[in-house]
Amino acid sequence: MAIGFPQCPLVKAWSYSRLGTYQSCPLKFKLTAIDKMEEPKGPAMERGNVIHGLAEAYLKGEKKTLPKELKLQEGVFKDLRARIKKAPHLVEVEQMWGFTSDWQLTRWDNWTGCWLRVKLDVAHVDEPTNTVVITDWKTGKFRPDNLQDYVKQLGLYGLAALLKYEHLGPTLKVQPRLVYLDNPTIYQGGSEEPLTFVPKDVAKLKKLWEKEVKPLFNDRVFAPKPNQWCGWCHFRKDNGGPCQY
Ligand code: SF4
Repeated sequence: MAIGFPQCPLVKAWSYSRLGTYQSCPLKFKLTAIDKMEEPKGPAMERGNVIHGLAEAYLKGEKKTLPKELKLQEGVFKDLRARIKKAPHLVEVEQMWGFTSDWQLTRWDNWTGCWLRVKLDVAHVDEPTNTVVITDWKTGKFRPDNLQDYVKQLGLYGLAALLKYEHLGPTLKVQPRLVYLDNPTIYQGGSEEPLTFVPKDVAKLKKLWEKEVKPLFNDRVFAPKPNQWCGWCHFRKDNGGPCQY
C-alpha cells in the first residue's frame, strides 16, 4: 500500500538520527542533510566510533579477547560471540536496512527508491523462542529524562525487524535493546518485561511513523528552531555559521 507521501524535491530519505536532527532544528537538518555541510566530529563522537569499531571487530572474531572498553557488558558480548560461533547465519553484525515509502525492503544504497535507512549494530534470531533481538550499542550516559526518545527508537527497530523477518511467521517476536558500554545498563523499554513487538503491531507502527515523518517531507522552509543546544551548534552565529542565532 503506497502511503502517498508528497514527492519532496529536497528530501528523499530519512533515518532515526536525521529525523531527530529535523525535530530539534529544521535548519540544522537542512544544512547537514540537504546542503551537505560538515560538522566537525567532537571527541565524544570520535570515541563512540572507536568503541563501535571494537565491538564489531570482537564479534567478527578479528579480536580474540574482549577489549577492556567492552568489559561492562561482557555477558552480552560473550553470548553473541557464542551464537555466532554456533550458527553464524542467525546473527547479523553492523547492518543497514533499507525500506521504500510503502515499507518494502530495498537496498540501503538504492539512491532513488530507498526512503528509510535503519542502521543497527546487531540483530540475532533466537530460534527456540522465534525471537529477533536487536542490539544497539550506546556510549555515554543513560539519560532517564530521555525515556520517550528511547522507546521511540526501540519502536522503529521493532517495526524494521518485523518487516525484515516477516518470513518467521505469525509467532515472530522482536525485542530491541539499547546496551550501554560505559555503564552496566541494558534498556529494553523500562518495565520488568522487555518491550516486545509482534506482527499485529505492524499496521499501528507504520501509521505512527508515517505521521511522525510527514512534517519533514512537507517542509519547504526549514526554519531555525533555537533550542538549548544552540551554544554547541557548529552553525551558530558566533561561530561564523550561517544561522542567525
Ligand atoms: S544555532 Fe540553533 S537555531 Fe541555529 S542551526 Fe544551530 S540549532 Fe538551529
